[in-house]
Amino acid sequence: MTELVRAISVEKIGSVENINLEKPKLRDYEVLFKVHYVSLCTIEQRVYKGKRDYGYPFLGGHENVGEIIEVGNGVVGFEKGDYSVFTFNYCNQCESCQSGRGTQCEHQKEQLQKIEFDGSIVGGAMSEYIAVPAWQLIKITPKIEDLPVFALTEPLACCIHSVEKANIQFGDTVLIIGFGIMGWLHLQLAKLRGAITIVSEGDEERRNFAQVEGADYVINPMEESVESCINEITQQKGVTVIVNTVANPNIWDSLFSLLTTQGKIIAYSSQDMKKPASVDMGYIHSKEIQIIGTVNPTVHDNLKATKLIMAKRIDLEKMIDSIFDYEDAKAAFDHACLPNVYRVLIKF
Ligand SMILES: [Zn+2]
Ligand SMILES: [Zn+2]
Repeated sequence: MTELVRAISVEKIGSVENINLEKPKLRDYEVLFKVHYVSLCTIEQRVYKGKRDYGYPFLGGHENVGEIIEVGNGVVGFEKGDYSVFTFNYCNQCESCQSGRGTQCEHQKEQLQKIEFDGSIVGGAMSEYIAVPAWQLIKITPKIEDLPVFALTEPLACCIHSVEKANIQFGDTVLIIGFGIMGWLHLQLAKLRGAITIVSEGDEERRNFAQVEGADYVINPMEESVESCINEITQQKGVTVIVNTVANPNIWDSLFSLLTTQGKIIAYSSQDMKKPASVDMGYIHSKEIQIIGTVNPTVHDNLKATKLIMAKRIDLEKMIDSIFDYEDAKAAFDHACLPNVYRVLIKF
């Protein structure tokens, strides 16, 4: 008889269901990974709300933590009972992956099916068991009560990727636009790098939180001129780095006047590609400005994230709003979509 495992599927817009899938069969060089916690990223929320279409039914789950249940032939370095996070979405075999540019893997769309699911899969940890190549796992040694925070390895790793691309240094002035989870993570990492931090956020509750979390300056862009504030803080010089974590395409034109010469703008948030921003190339040339895109993490970024979490350098628990049981998956999605909610986890 086929063994069934529990999974969570977005059946269509606004509909989440608890379903059963066939327990995946282990192939050589794979491990059977049992998901303990999966986190609801913006991808899952957007698919649920119909703001992003990967095709339905949809099975997400790229932010996860779990345990190795079984080890396939040829696997070295992992044993049954090891805790780990599984990372994606790279093949480890193409030129991009092999040259350290795994965020641009050439085979992202042709990854091995980890589970038998009649629909689209992004990540796959919305299924309680998945079979994944061993090299996609990062081993962790957590205290069992700390396990949930490791489900946030991937978002932390995304921001490590971003901060390293910005090459934030001691004494840099970093303007972080938006104080959702990505703004919060950038604040923590910029502080670890010795930067002076400025958060611009329209929501009062989030602004207050930014203050509590140690932002050196907090700006309300709805009521204050960001440019005047930055001029005052930096004595007319402008900031050295701007990190944009909001998806508003109208924001770009205003950023150049906030930046010092040789300054960097990090395009962190996803943007609607059909709404290009105008860019003054003469200004970029003469002031030696850099505009840097950043998306996803490499496996190395994920490894660094697990090390920071294990050493408790970043208190990710603050980013966990709530943990729902598997049976309450629909309620978890609804809750995650509420305003001002950071991460919502589901426990299998
Ligand atoms: Zn994510
Ligand atoms: Zn690749």
